[in-house]
Amino acid sequence: VMDVEKMEGIRRGRRLLLIPLPLEGHINPMLELAHILHSKGFSISFIHIQYCTNSLNFTFSISSFPHGPLPLPQPSSDLLNFLTLLNTLALTPFRDCLAKLLSHDASSEDEEDQHPISCLISDAMCFFTQAVATSFGLPRIVLRTGAISSFLAFAAFPLLLQKRYLPIQECQLEKVVEELGPLRVKDLPVVNTNDPHKFYDLLRNFVHETVTSLGVIWNSFEALESSSLAKLTHQFPTPMYAIGPLHKYLQPSQMPHPHQSCISWLQQHAPKSVVYVSFGSIASISEADFLEIAWGLANCDHPFLWVVRPGMVRGCDWLEALPSGFLENLGGSGRGHIVKWAPQQQVLAHHCVGAFLTHNGWNSTMESICEGVPMICMPCFADQNVNARYVSHVWKVGLQLEKGVERGEIERSIRKVMEGKEIRERASILKEEARLCLQRGGSSYSSLQRLVTHIMSFNV
Ligand code: UDP
Repeated sequence: VMDVEKMEGIRRGRRLLLIPLPLEGHINPMLELAHILHSKGFSISFIHIQYCTNSLNFTFSISSFPHGPLPLPQPSSDLLNFLTLLNTLALTPFRDCLAKLLSHDASSEDEEDQHPISCLISDAMCFFTQAVATSFGLPRIVLRTGAISSFLAFAAFPLLLQKRYLPIQECQLEKVVEELGPLRVKDLPVVNTNDPHKFYDLLRNFVHETVTSLGVIWNSFEALESSSLAKLTHQFPTPMYAIGPLHKYLQPSQMPHPHQSCISWLQQHAPKSVVYVSFGSIASISEADFLEIAWGLANCDHPFLWVVRPGMVRGCDWLEALPSGFLENLGGSGRGHIVKWAPQQQVLAHHCVGAFLTHNGWNSTMESICEGVPMICMPCFADQNVNARYVSHVWKVGLQLEKGVERGEIERSIRKVMEGKEIRERASILKEEARLCLQRGGSSYSSLQRLVTHIMSFNV
């Protein structure tokens, strides 16, 4: 066994370039990965794609890119166009940026900037990076921030089209997709668009440039997705590294603590009594759905902490669609608390939280699993549909709203999850598995070691 310090000394001479997709649910796991790999002795350079908004249009630029800002649509209103345009418009600026990084750093004052770059770690959705990395002979591995199970569904799109599961037909919604285990047609990871071919093209590129990379890092763990991981490694020769849950490598004390009002509000309630409600950073909902959720929460009698992002309710600035005095009339002292943003990981880890009404973005799903918090699943689009199905029917740590967004079903589901024993027990078991896989000898611990060895094998 090589002396650890000696190994880290060697690695410290190597630099990794990390490029996340510039969205909350992608930047956070990439930052966590940066922290993990830094703790393994690598130097890290982060390329952050910035886009800024003004009242007329949305623009973006990549820090240190020599090009001017480029127009991109708002991701929360047009994610498909955002991703398609980003992958087209970022190519040339990225090539120029990389050329600069690979050539000039000897002049940098920062010692770590002078370390040779041994590989690029790109978000899988930034598939424009593949061609550029290849042209520079730079090894490229990717971080996929979604589940392995949903990736299998994305990879199966050509087959699903051929077998006419896609495009989705109303009369087939309940039909089970035999090739994809527990998924029904209505659980397929599609988005609402009038140009489905644009979506299929995007997915084809995304899947292709992922499986032709030199390795894929997953924010998942073996005990959670063992059969999907086995299928994936059977289908593709690419080395796979399931090293999640990424956010659990960090000590809670290393995380910032903004929005403390949420925590002090939670503190006033009984253990496991609060419903936490959040739909992530992008999803938007109609005013009608917003009101159904509001009444479902009001009628369930449990205290609730609800994140409503400004602009999340379509056509509204913030809360104006709520009946006046809604929160004041709930009864009890402060039974409902609405915020614009919450420190979600801390909220889910809080002992007073008993259930999570979620859109099942993959980060939210993992964060809930890691804290043993049962879910009420309200997926909005794409992989959220797949995640919700796995939560409710494979891992059995939640219930999915099956009849659209309806106040009666929301109320009943919350009560069922809060009072049900089985779901809570399953959630505790999964929480323990998520903890164990990171311990010495655990599956994610070992995968991370393999990943470090893999990166060390690249010639610099
Ligand atoms: N998040 C948060 N506070 C909020 C809402 C979301 O910190 O009020 C974080 C959440 O913890 C998660 C990320 O934002 O890490 C959202 O990612 P996810 O994959 O769940 O959903 P997306 O935003 O990509 O749809």
